Amino acid sequence: MGETGIRLDLTGQTAIVTGASSGIGAGIARLFGRAGANVVINYRSSEDGARETLRAIEDAGGTGRIVQADVSQEGDVKRLFEEACDAFGTVHVLIANAGLQRDAPAHEMSLADWKTVLDVNLTGQFLCAREAIRLFRARGPVPEVCPALGKIVCISSVHQFIPWSGRVNYAASKGGLLLMMQSLAQEYAGEKIRINAIAPGAIKTAINRSSWDDPAEREKLLDLIPYGRIGESEDVARAALWLASDASDYVTGETLVVDGGMALYPGFREGG
Ligand code: NAD
Repeated sequence: MGETGIRLDLTGQTAIVTGASSGIGAGIARLFGRAGANVVINYRSSEDGARETLRAIEDAGGTGRIVQADVSQEGDVKRLFEEACDAFGTVHVLIANAGLQRDAPAHEMSLADWKTVLDVNLTGQFLCAREAIRLFRARGPVPEVCPALGKIVCISSVHQFIPWSGRVNYAASKGGLLLMMQSLAQEYAGEKIRINAIAPGAIKTAINRSSWDDPAEREKLLDLIPYGRIGESEDVARAALWLASDASDYVTGETLVVDGGMALYPGFREGG
């Protein structure tokens, strides 16, 4: 608790971060570790990446536990929460971050690529949110730890509202997340479960390497970002910390856009 009385730390709380072996998830896990949370580092296939995230947390004096699970599999998600509870007793925060892309022009997109993206990005977040809600309700309130019964942050994208050609599966999954998040927030606000989303713009991670690795592609991308730089995982992590902390206790059903102005129709900067 600082002089302002606003708690922007997570001391005594446990947070599950899905897809925390790289990119935005790793950035959130590291910052949450520094903010005092017990961090459950979920990964699907990159055990090395998960170990690196854990090492960074422990080097900074924090505590974490690695749990392998595929968020699109119901049984894996159940086990993820069970192992988190075995390690730390309970869970206060879910960061539903795991996601992927399988890009193709719509007329060439396979049903398998459509389904994979929907299964991970949308169904995976639903399965994790459902498990978190079940756990929060079964445990009941712990007001001395945090005023909410529990908190969920869905990592969405500016493509929850900006159409994206060549990525109809991805845009549909993120558009679906918006109403999933809002509907869940409406359904559980009365029980003091806060559910919000973050819509990142372009953040430098493995998912979009081709758009920032190549100088010509980077210039094209920067043209879409009024703030003049590509985002870092830490930019999203700081927003996630605010949404997970008690500082945002009266906020639910909202999307925090973290995009350097990308969603401000930058094409109209010169008057359209
Ligand atoms: P990333 O590829 O580094 O991270 C995605 C993580 O999700 C990886 O660690 C991956 O292993 C994991 N994952 C994928 N499928 C999984 C599954 N079935 N179960 C568990 N984990 C799984 O890319 P990132 O940019 O850090 O992406 C994180 C989230 O941020 C995604 O939801 C993505 O859509 C979103 N996002 C990223 C950007 C960006 O510009 N990087 C912009 C908007 C939204």
